[in-house]
Amino acid sequence: MPAPTVKIADATSRTVVQVLLPLPLSGAYDYLLPGHLEARPGSFVEVPIGSRSAIGVVWDPPEQAEAASPLPLSRLRPVAAVLPAPPMPAALRRFIDWVAAYTLSPPGAVLRMAMSVPAALEAPRPRLGWQAAPAAAEGARLSAARRRVLARLAGGGALSAESLVEAAAVSPGLLRAMARDGLLVPVPLPAESDPASPDPQHPGPILSPAQAEAAAALRAAVARRDFSVTLLRGVTGSGKTEVYLDALAECLRQGRQALVLLPEIALSAQWLERFAARFGCPPAVWHSELSPARRRETWRAVAAGRVPALVGARSALFLPFPDLGLIVVDEEHESAFKQEEGVIYHARDMAVVRARLSAAACVLVSATPSLESIVNAEAGRYRLLDLPDRHGGARLPEVRLIDLRRDPPERGRFLSPPLIEAVRETLARGEQAMLFLNRRGYAPLTLCRACGHRMQCPNCTAWLVEHRAQRRLLCHHCGHAEAIPPACPACGAEASLTPIGPGVERVQEEAAALFPEARRLVMASDTLAGPTAAAEAARRIAAREVDLLIGTQVMAKGWHFPQLTLVGVVDADLGLGGGDLRAAERTMQLLHQVAGRAGREAAPGRVLVQSFQPDHPVMQALAAHDLAGFLAAEKAQRAPGHWPPYGRLAALIVSSEDPLAAARTARDLALAAPEAAGVTVLGPAPAPLAMLRGRHRHRLLLKAERGIAVQPLLRAWLGRVAIPAAVRVQVDVDPLSFL
Ligand code: ADP
Ligand code: ZN
Repeated sequence: MPAPTVKIADATSRTVVQVLLPLPLSGAYDYLLPGHLEARPGSFVEVPIGSRSAIGVVWDPPEQAEAASPLPLSRLRPVAAVLPAPPMPAALRRFIDWVAAYTLSPPGAVLRMAMSVPAALEAPRPRLGWQAAPAAAEGARLSAARRRVLARLAGGGALSAESLVEAAAVSPGLLRAMARDGLLVPVPLPAESDPASPDPQHPGPILSPAQAEAAAALRAAVARRDFSVTLLRGVTGSGKTEVYLDALAECLRQGRQALVLLPEIALSAQWLERFAARFGCPPAVWHSELSPARRRETWRAVAAGRVPALVGARSALFLPFPDLGLIVVDEEHESAFKQEEGVIYHARDMAVVRARLSAAACVLVSATPSLESIVNAEAGRYRLLDLPDRHGGARLPEVRLIDLRRDPPERGRFLSPPLIEAVRETLARGEQAMLFLNRRGYAPLTLCRACGHRMQCPNCTAWLVEHRAQRRLLCHHCGHAEAIPPACPACGAEASLTPIGPGVERVQEEAAALFPEARRLVMASDTLAGPTAAAEAARRIAAREVDLLIGTQVMAKGWHFPQLTLVGVVDADLGLGGGDLRAAERTMQLLHQVAGRAGREAAPGRVLVQSFQPDHPVMQALAAHDLAGFLAAEKAQRAPGHWPPYGRLAALIVSSEDPLAAARTARDLALAAPEAAGVTVLGPAPAPLAMLRGRHRHRLLLKAERGIAVQPLLRAWLGRVAIPAAVRVQVDVDPLSFL
């Protein structure tokens, strides 16, 4: 199909193009396209803006023919250059417009997410790689790391520094040192190397009848080459991953690209291994911790259609796939898919939109799907596929509640006698145990015993969290860090600051005292810095080099540890406070996920849940494996008041460094609030996080019955109020966080 022409000829036959810039402007700007340049919608171009120049994308001409430039042609500035990069596909341009309209963001702010690697737009520079020097391997007494590097280069091949660093798990500095020592020599590399090509014919496991049926349905959805959404639900360990990898194979056979979104891609070493085992090579990956060179290479390869399968974080939705055929959102219920800064969007919901605009199949996967997705499936908007049983006859673990009122831990301790006993038994049998607490650091609160002063963040309405290993108090919201003071800053009492409550470091300390002979490992986002550390931790656990795991939710997700048979939940009530709409649902999902780590193979698993409220519906449903009953109760609570998913919410977050300005704007917004049947506006109220990073915050919440489009209401509302320069109003459509 020929590209639609953008030429709007005037009397002198000059061409006007609309260029969208990755800046928070209201829309695309008009430029003149000089006769010697060729551009079409999607072309990346360099244009002057003010006194500088910027790179943007030729956007599609406005719908109405008469929407000509408001500026006289003589005032338009010319496009300076067309960049040597494949044009942005139409489906991605439509997606950017759609996300901008849905989230009430400037289109340029959304475009910026799709242009996160400006360097990728330039022609690739010739690159140097490393080759082993002749006879390098013969020098005796090489370190293990050096031998790993040489092993990767065996046979005379050359690799880029990034590839070597990744493949041999060494530092870039080591490569330079090896070059100095004459072990490596620089050689030119081909300009662009193709990512490895996953082989769809590579044999996968033999699927059980239930798995095979689900896989066939997904394959058929992919083969239709049309938009569809399927919710793949199945208990932990039921083989959901195997099933959707089968759909991915079909997508490869169709010659279209497949995208898998994972909530914590940096911690997904096991997933990458499984992909490699299934398709014979690793997938392309996309997340914030990639090196700049790797980002540039990956972006260019995606744009050129050379990446058949990519696994990534939510930002991968904005990559320029030319012909996306499948999007999988694994752990679709995870709140990590929500971006809370800048353009506020939910990657699960936007994945559905991206699939629709690309005529692709979308598969949402979870053991505990969000109520949103369940209701969509029940209403027939999504197809529902269920995998009811664990693979290979493994049983779901037995879940027992420990009533902390009846079985309290010792004073100042956090593990109750029954949990301690169970860990002891498990370790004595030679099996692995896990203690789960969703809180990083040593203690969430530091209090002065003399005057009651609480150590608080100077920039946020939040307590400082002690991190004992670093001997610091940290703010988990803004990153503020300070040394633990020797005396109370309020009353001056010496040695009076006391940690209150547990974090994983404190549970580890208690476990060290109780089980000194057990080999322990702490897994939290701050102790597993990056993919390599996570992969190494997973390897050690699987290799039985660890007896007792202590960790936060990073340990709860997706891992498959065959010999782990006991999970102890240290504080199951942690997520229930705060009165959040989804507090119970989220707690249920998290605890179910954690419990799902136990007994995934032959040995049966056990889960002990410490709670002060064992009668809470979440705890009862968990113990009875009664997700359906729990969901029915949740629905009954939300439906009458039109709470999501039975109605829509949108939040306005008003913030300013000036407390008065923030309060005044919040009040002005409340006075201008929309009035319509089926629409309610709550607030303004100081946000629970009344101060964040030094900004004072107020919130308003718009609630609309299902079927009412909230965007036009919001647009009109914001249009009625003048927002001072010192005040920022963020719009959060479908908010997950109410902080
Ligand atoms: P889920 O994604 O539902 O948690 P997985 O796909 O991770 O389940 O499967 C759990 C474990 O069972 C994995 O180790 C997986 O390799 C294995 N497994 C699942 N289905 C099969 C199968 N049909 N044949 C062999 N192994 C399987
Ligand atoms: Zn802070």
